[in-house]
Amino acid sequence: MATTLVPDLKQSSGVTDTLGRPLRDLRISVADRCNFRCIYCMPKEIFGSDYQFLDRKELLTFEEIERLARVFVGHGIEKIRLTGGEPLVRRNLENLIEMLAGIPGLDLTLTTNGSMLARKAQALKDAGLRRVTVSLDSLDNEIFKAMNDVAFPVEKVLAGIDEAARVGLAPIKINMVVKRGVNEQSILPMARYFREQGHILRFIEYMDVGHSNGWKLDDVVPAAEIVEIISADMPLEQIPPNYPGEVANRWRYKGDDNEVGIIASVTKPFCGGCTRARISAEGKLYTCLFAVKGQDLRQLIRDGISDEDLSAAIGTTWANRKDRYSEIRSSLTEGMPKVEMSYIGG
Ligand code: SAM
Ligand code: SF4
Ligand code: SF4
Repeated sequence: MATTLVPDLKQSSGVTDTLGRPLRDLRISVADRCNFRCIYCMPKEIFGSDYQFLDRKELLTFEEIERLARVFVGHGIEKIRLTGGEPLVRRNLENLIEMLAGIPGLDLTLTTNGSMLARKAQALKDAGLRRVTVSLDSLDNEIFKAMNDVAFPVEKVLAGIDEAARVGLAPIKINMVVKRGVNEQSILPMARYFREQGHILRFIEYMDVGHSNGWKLDDVVPAAEIVEIISADMPLEQIPPNYPGEVANRWRYKGDDNEVGIIASVTKPFCGGCTRARISAEGKLYTCLFAVKGQDLRQLIRDGISDEDLSAAIGTTWANRKDRYSEIRSSLTEGMPKVEMSYIGG
């Protein structure tokens, strides 16, 4: 397999957008498909049996992804997160991990629904993956099955998390989307369980991504309420971010070093520090989770563009970036066109 090296692009690192934000973090969706139908992400009524997912040939190949990753590293990217859809439905994903793990100085991680993790954790670790984020919305089977909407049991996700811990994919983070009237009662049991396990639980405010989930502001359980619910039982104190632009607000349990995070993109938007770019499974570059249009990098690559020109095209897109959707979210943004979370990756 030919490896494209872009050694001197580091010199061009430091591209900033129109609001002075550098490019540091890249999320690559490797599949638009998923074996779950989470009600807040891929509701069955829309993502049914006749839904048109991407064809195999439309997906970026592993070689194309690796080439893009190297070009982005030239722009100062320090972290790559593989996502989807469900990234573990992409066949031989460990081969891609191995290719990306060969890029020096890169923090490589993956977000998964955990359904296939018990089987795949060892291969992912062996391929060079360092750590993993697993999504789990409840420990209560009735609630979890209703949320993933394919009756997938909690125990299998927990087994995946245990296996990831056993093979050393650490630290493990757990993502829990909180939706009003659906799983607030799971906040405390989840906090207790993962404090005990020593994994970092991160609560995510339910977001208005895409148009299929029927989002309403009333469905959001605000970060402040989540902190209150936990603190009433296990007092929390806020701690500083690990690095500038970290999306989660960090809280520590008084009396030990275990922590929880809260991603409050609705009640406390963090666009000012947003250094993230996203590439969809078909190779479109999006500069915001709520973007309307992506830049077709796959077309550029398949038309034979050089690394230098590809890098320049990406740099120009980032330099022109103005996105700050969460800060301007209002009745005016309600009807705006957006892409779906499962397409662009979370
Ligand atoms: N399938 C993988 C998973 O679920 O972890 C990766 C892709 S998923 C789109 C990435 C993250 O986005 C998950 O943690 C998921 O819970 C979160 N997510 C999806 N839809 C969301 C929404 N409407 N609001 C907030 N978070 C959401
Ligand atoms: Fe699939 Fe993840 Fe979306 Fe759930 S959140 S439907 S697991 S992509
Ligand atoms: Fe970044 Fe867009 Fe989210 Fe703001 S709304 S934090 S710019 S992805």
